[in-house]
Amino acid sequence: MSLTERQKQIIEIVKENQPITGDGIAEKLSLTRSALRTDFSILTGKGYLNSKPKVGYTYQERKDKKYVREIMGEAVFVDYNLSVYETILKIFAKDVGTMFITENKTLVGIVSRKDLLKIAIGKNDIEKVPINVIMTRMPNIIYCEEDELIIDGVKKIIKHQIDCVPVVRIKEVRGKKIYELVGRLTKTNITKLFLEYYEK
Ligand code: ADP
Repeated sequence: MSLTERQKQIIEIVKENQPITGDGIAEKLSLTRSALRTDFSILTGKGYLNSKPKVGYTYQERKDKKYVREIMGEAVFVDYNLSVYETILKIFAKDVGTMFITENKTLVGIVSRKDLLKIAIGKNDIEKVPINVIMTRMPNIIYCEEDELIIDGVKKIIKHQIDCVPVVRIKEVRGKKIYELVGRLTKTNITKLFLEYYEK
């Protein structure tokens, strides 16, 4: 929801005259305070203005979250040598939908709930099958970096029809690319952000 011209005018008045009372703002706009009541409540509700009794309104810089690092969650992973069975236990224990697979903290694979279901309903001894046999591996993993824009992470999730992307720090060690796992960006993180904006 974008701001109306009048709401933008109110913000400018507050920026220049803060702290300023509701009556003071109304006077500058040649309106009554009650005519502005809805605008005041929208602007404080959305976090643009702060209102203090007996002091008045002050402007509050709205900090919009832009980068992946601001909303990413904890990276949940298992070692690539663990079995499918142990991976399933961890996915339940950590209450996540996607599990990352690492080798010395480096991201080497990813499995979704459905990948695990698929192997579990086949005639396999899941306590013996290592997770690295069924994982989606590099270079096929879609990832993002901490300083990437959230919107670009969202585009990757939509384009590739996946639930989650790992967040990595890319390093080069002896001419080889290393993907250090630092977090995850999921549909849940993004939905929470969406809610934050709409509840303002
Ligand atoms: P589900 O399998 O439960 O629908 P996803 O849509 O996330 O979950 O995964 C679909 C397939 O894509 C799975 O086989 C999974 O291994 C793979 N996958 C999931 N996330 C990624 C990713 N970030 N990069 C590459 N492949 C992925």
